[in-house]
Amino acid sequence: MGNKFIKALSENKEVRLFMINSTEMVEESRNIYGSSPVSIAALGRTITAASILGKTLKNEMDKLTLRIKGSNEIESIIAVADYEGTVKGYISNPFVKTKINQYGKLDVGGAVGKDGKIFVIRDYGLKDPYVGSADLVSGEIAEDLANYFMFSEQQPTVFSLGVFVNSENIVEAAGGLLIQTLPDVSEESIVLIEEAMSKIKPISTLIKENYTFENIINEYFASLNFAITEESETKLECDCSRERMEKALISLGKEELYDMINKDKGAELHCHFCNTYYKFNEDELKKLI
Ligand SMILES: [Zn+2]
Repeated sequence: MGNKFIKALSENKEVRLFMINSTEMVEESRNIYGSSPVSIAALGRTITAASILGKTLKNEMDKLTLRIKGSNEIESIIAVADYEGTVKGYISNPFVKTKINQYGKLDVGGAVGKDGKIFVIRDYGLKDPYVGSADLVSGEIAEDLANYFMFSEQQPTVFSLGVFVNSENIVEAAGGLLIQTLPDVSEESIVLIEEAMSKIKPISTLIKENYTFENIINEYFASLNFAITEESETKLECDCSRERMEKALISLGKEELYDMINKDKGAELHCHFCNTYYKFNEDELKKLI
């Protein structure tokens, strides 16, 4: 099925809607470490959001990073996306014991904690990337992102992110919905969005119930007359390589490399995003020197 993505614009050109069915990428992501349900729900929501936000970038070389600094068992989540929505994700603790919250859902907010921070980093290939941040409000991620956009970027944004893990611990449905209003949006459009969001089911439930994007638009957003302006696919993919690891080793300097040869008789580097190990023996390290 792939990770389907759409972008739509309301007839009055005041509201943009983005939706992604990220079931495949979140399940792939779960398989990398064999993450627990609550850990994959947290990571899955973050990579889903990053993938959608990646799609809002304008240039081929642009990158967007979401970083959640948690205050509980999950200390850190990182997701990096490019302008096509290709994403990679990392979670500091893939094996958080699963708890259920008062709503009968995986307790992502409890695992992340409320006293952390969210960072949105946009790299446009200039000398310094743009870094924005906000305090977390719930640790549930969608709410934290909406709060970030409202107060740090003055961009009213609606986020819905969801990951449904079945009784066999497999990701059965995952997705995201993002609504952004354009400058000078009318009060009428805002009311229509609020009405739609008060009725809509969680995005993971809709995907689980086999709703297509068209079904969702017709059932909940008919009043805004959305026209789909882009249909594409996104994917989970790590951009690490042996070459990149060689560059990282070179950047450590000669002394450090001699040290690795003498003490460890080689080096082993680990990519936390895709769980790939890169081994370098003594001769290979000498070549780098
Ligand atoms: Zn990797």
